[in-house]
Amino acid sequence: MTKSSPSSSGAAFDFPRARAALLKWFDANGRVFPWRKDPTPYRVWISEIMLQQTTTQTVVGYFERFIRRFPDAAALARASEEETLKYWEGLGYYRRAKMLRAAAIEIAAKHNGAFPSDYASALALPGIGRYAAGAILSFGFDKRFPILEANTTRLHARLLGLRAETTLAESQRVLWQFAEDWLPRESARREPNVYRKLNGALTDLGRLVCSPDEPNCGACPLANWCEAERLGLQAVTPVMKKKAEPIRRTDAALWISRADLPGAARVAETPGAAKKTDARQTDVLLVRRSQGALWAGLWDFPRFPVAEPFANAHELSRDAALADYLQYFLETEAGAPGRDYRAGAVLTTVRHAVTKYRVALRVARLAGAAPAVNRAPSLFDALESEPATPFLARSAAQGPEVARPHEVPRQGDELRWVPIESLESLPLSSPGRRVARFIAGAVGK
Ligand code: SF4
Repeated sequence: MTKSSPSSSGAAFDFPRARAALLKWFDANGRVFPWRKDPTPYRVWISEIMLQQTTTQTVVGYFERFIRRFPDAAALARASEEETLKYWEGLGYYRRAKMLRAAAIEIAAKHNGAFPSDYASALALPGIGRYAAGAILSFGFDKRFPILEANTTRLHARLLGLRAETTLAESQRVLWQFAEDWLPRESARREPNVYRKLNGALTDLGRLVCSPDEPNCGACPLANWCEAERLGLQAVTPVMKKKAEPIRRTDAALWISRADLPGAARVAETPGAAKKTDARQTDVLLVRRSQGALWAGLWDFPRFPVAEPFANAHELSRDAALADYLQYFLETEAGAPGRDYRAGAVLTTVRHAVTKYRVALRVARLAGAAPAVNRAPSLFDALESEPATPFLARSAAQGPEVARPHEVPRQGDELRWVPIESLESLPLSSPGRRVARFIAGAVGK
């Protein structure tokens, strides 16, 4: 039996007794998830990738829908990127879905459609790092691999009384070693599923009992062996790297109907869309975001940064740089003949977070476009509390300011007229989806 991993006091950690107490607690308190009920390597893999950056509560519904549509790696390998993204829509961090599909293609080609059971092959797959490889091999195959994520990092740091910042190289070495020491060697294994259960139990205990702000030490099965509990260090360990303050920014998303933009030569039709008499009003302009851009491969409304002095919901039309971006985009990327294009009044604001930014996304139509909304104006007005200022277009006194192409935020590889009733079937960025629902509601679709 392993009896190592000295705590901050220098005493050896009593793994045999601690494991027994932990597994007893897990039998009574472990969380139940669909991927735990039937832990095949494929299901565990999908769940682990979904759980990166996303809460278990959110993942459950997505997981079940995804597995119904793609029951194995072969089905996922055959799917288009657009369909994979559609099933991922709303989970965020879309690169994960692309990596998942790329790995499925590799699994189908190199591993006969089965997730590989050896560490080196698992780690070589797209989107699989040290944590994911260990998690899939232990949860999916019951192999002896440690895992270290947010919950177990906190739990182990407290059990050991670790006072150094957890992301430091030496802290990581100590924490990974401790995570491994929790798992008995194969020769000392007494029961099936022990690696699967121990890693699950450590994660659950960290999540449910050893919580960040108020660890419930009175209910903790490991309190007898915990340095933080012994020394009263719960409030000071783990020592986390300070998070950077989020940066606030304002963007504008443009609702552009076909009627607003006659003769846009570079905008494609939606394939298979029925020709309708009201298409000029009900088709909206969408862009597919370029590879390498945020939300790459997803569809979105044309969106541009708004300069800080014009971030107020009622000032959008005064932003000369925004007017230039819009002009350049509509003339050059959409191929619409020149006109003095400007953003119109803000209709609503969609607030969202992306990486380090907290974004206020002002949704506006092109200036001069017909209102085409069925909602009472008061609904729009209620969304903003800033005082209204008079509508001001870019004045002649400001002079002609043309944005240089390298400064213009490029919109996407493909531009398309999309009927409002077809918006639900396209994979959209999550703020794009909220804008789409707003527009559909506004026109009564
Ligand atoms: S005793 Fe308290 S601090 Fe220690 S592991 Fe348990 S819950 Fe966490």
